[in-house]
Order: sequence, then C-alpha cells, then structure tokens
Amino acid sequence: MTAMHSTKGKVDGRLMQQANRALVLNLVRAQPTLSRAAIARQTRLSPAAVSGIVDHLAREGWVKEIGAAVTGNVGRRPLRLAFVPEARLAVGIDLDLHEVSAALVDLGGTPREVHRLPVPDDADPRFVLDLAAELARRVMRDVPAGQLLGIGMAIPGMVRWPEGINLFSPNFHWRDVPVRAMMEERLGGVVFVDNEVRALALAEHQYGAARWARSCVFLDAGTGVGGAVILEGQLYRGMHGAAGELGHNTVAPGGPICACGNQGCLEVFASGIGLERRVGEALAAGSASLLADKQETWTPGGLAAAAHAGDGLAGELLEHAAEYLGLVVANAVANWDPELVVLSGPVIREGGIFDRVLAAGTRSVLEPARARVRVAPALIEANVKIIGAASLVITEHLAAPL
Ligand SMILES: [Zn+2]
Repeated sequence: MTAMHSTKGKVDGRLMQQANRALVLNLVRAQPTLSRAAIARQTRLSPAAVSGIVDHLAREGWVKEIGAAVTGNVGRRPLRLAFVPEARLAVGIDLDLHEVSAALVDLGGTPREVHRLPVPDDADPRFVLDLAAELARRVMRDVPAGQLLGIGMAIPGMVRWPEGINLFSPNFHWRDVPVRAMMEERLGGVVFVDNEVRALALAEHQYGAARWARSCVFLDAGTGVGGAVILEGQLYRGMHGAAGELGHNTVAPGGPICACGNQGCLEVFASGIGLERRVGEALAAGSASLLADKQETWTPGGLAAAAHAGDGLAGELLEHAAEYLGLVVANAVANWDPELVVLSGPVIREGGIFDRVLAAGTRSVLEPARARVRVAPALIEANVKIIGAASLVITEHLAAPL
C-alpha cells in the first residue's frame, strides 16, 4: 500500500485526502502495533501528513494511542497506534427462508445481541420486509446517531448490486423485488443489500478463514448451494450480479431439473433441499434404507449418521455430493486461479464430507495449481450472515474510495 499524490486541483485533492485517510486507517487495522513513523515509511506519506491524519482519526475515535513500542534506541520511544473496533457499529440483517435475524456488529466483526423474528411460509415480500425493518429499528434503537455506520442486509437468491434488486430467489419464489429501495423507504436511510453467500464471503474475508487473502473462491452448501469470488481483495459481482453462482454449474448434463430451470446443476446433488429430494425419490423407487419413514432425518447430519451406521443410500448420496462439490472446486480453481478456496455450509460440515470434497477437488485440479491452492473450512459458524451483512456497510466505509 502506498499513498496517492495528485497535481490536479481541488476535487482530486479531496479524493486524495480521503484515500490517504482510508489507507492509514486500514494499515492500523491490519497491523496493530504501528507507530506514526512506521506508517510514514509504509505509505511514503510525509511524517507531518501522517500526524495530521492520525490526529483526525483519533479525534473521531477510530484509532487510539496505546503506549510505547519497544525499540533498540534509548531515548525516543514512539507510541503505538491501535484500531478501535467499537468506534462505529453497523446493523447486519440476515433474511432466511424461515427467520429474519439482526444485530449490531462492531468494526472487529463482533455481533452484539441477536434479535429474531419468524418468517411465515410464502409471505408477500412487503410483509417480509416489514418484519426485517421492524427488527432493524429494534436493534438500532439505543445507538447514538454518530456511532451508526449504516445498515446491511443479506438475502438469498440473485441480487443486482448496488441496486439491491432481488432478481430471482427460487426458494422465496421472488422475482425482481427491489429490496434495497423497499427497505430504504421503510427505514429512511441507506441500506446495502446483497446475496447471502457474498455476505458470508465478506465476513470470512474480513474476519475469518480468508483474512487478507487477495483472491479467493467461496463455496457454500446449505439449503441451496452458493458461491462468491474475491479478486484483488474485492468482491467480483459480475455484470448482472450473478458472478460466482457455483451452485448452478452443470455437473451432470441431462440430470434432474434444478430450481433455476436447468438440468443437472451442482445444487441438485449437493444442497440440503436437493439431498432431501433425492432421498424421497430413491425411497419411492423402492430403495431399502434406514431413512425410510423418517423424513426428519433427511438432513445432512441425518444422512451422515445413517451412512455411519452402514446405510447404502445415505452413503451414496453424500459420496455423490462430495464428488460434484470437488469437481466444481477444481473448475473454480481452473477459472479463477485463487490462492484459497473456503468451503462452508451444513452439507459439508454436518454431512462430514470436507475431506472427501478436498480429495475430489485435488484429483481434478490442474497439476500446476495443486501445490499453490489452499482449501480451508470456513471459520465463522455463528451469525456469519449477520456479520457479513454488516461487512457490506463496513467495507464500503473503510475501503479507499479509489
Ligand atoms: Zn441450477
């Protein structure tokens, strides 16, 4: 990271100031023991400019000085600077099929008390967003206006950014719902809205398994299968908001119909809904299985338990899910050449198939990529989408504007 220098008048001057301020702030955030002199060295800003920026950030509460760094020199002992995670808060809202949940999240990615409301089946978008807005109001009730950065929301389905239009949500049966506009109308301020797996990816990138990674691919197998791609430290959303929809990679041409209308998508074989459907079909076709007459066990955890007890059908379905997930990991590596792939979601975690996905992926990855790419499980389990939704706001504020 180096500083910006400009010669082109006032507007550029202001942008430059903002960029340099963001640069210093993110440096203090990334390296918790920096002195002003070290910041000047790393950014190539003048010591006077650094002092001006640091004083300003300290006045606004973003950073604080925390005592002397240990140096070899006798005499001058420069103060170290620390980022203050509690300086600002963002509201994160996670809209799920059956529940909406929300919490205040600080700049360190730590959520405070989580509030929840149930979402009834097949509810109208207006009603669902009324619930979400009600919850957001409850969560931010006692926050001083100056401390609140904004509101972020994670929703399932394809989302056009930055308009926050839910183009298509097969599980909610929504099409072209202007979620951002509807939430802003209800709450009277800016609301950032994006797809839930992209929010998850941001949370993992800011605070979890992919911290400070430059390029990474995320594959999440839960109710559906979603994905996200971070390139050069930024979410890559594509032209229509659908980049990284790894769940709709075709893995079996001519296979079963997917909710998206295509056939043989990864989601058909490796999502919670897909697995449940495959169990039902196999039993209807006469397969003998421990899962028969026990629909409550047609979950990733239930399948893993049955497979462990020797059930052939459960074992086979999990094996196929792992093979296809691995295939898509390998394809993603071939397409994006990331340094890291992060795997998350109940099908992988509760289904106990991380190692098998890794093995299948490694088998299919191009030879030269094999040694370079790391595949890791996600680190944040609780409230990851709430944290991710808040991260939509936090990254907008902390990222350099240029
Ligand atoms: Zn599909």
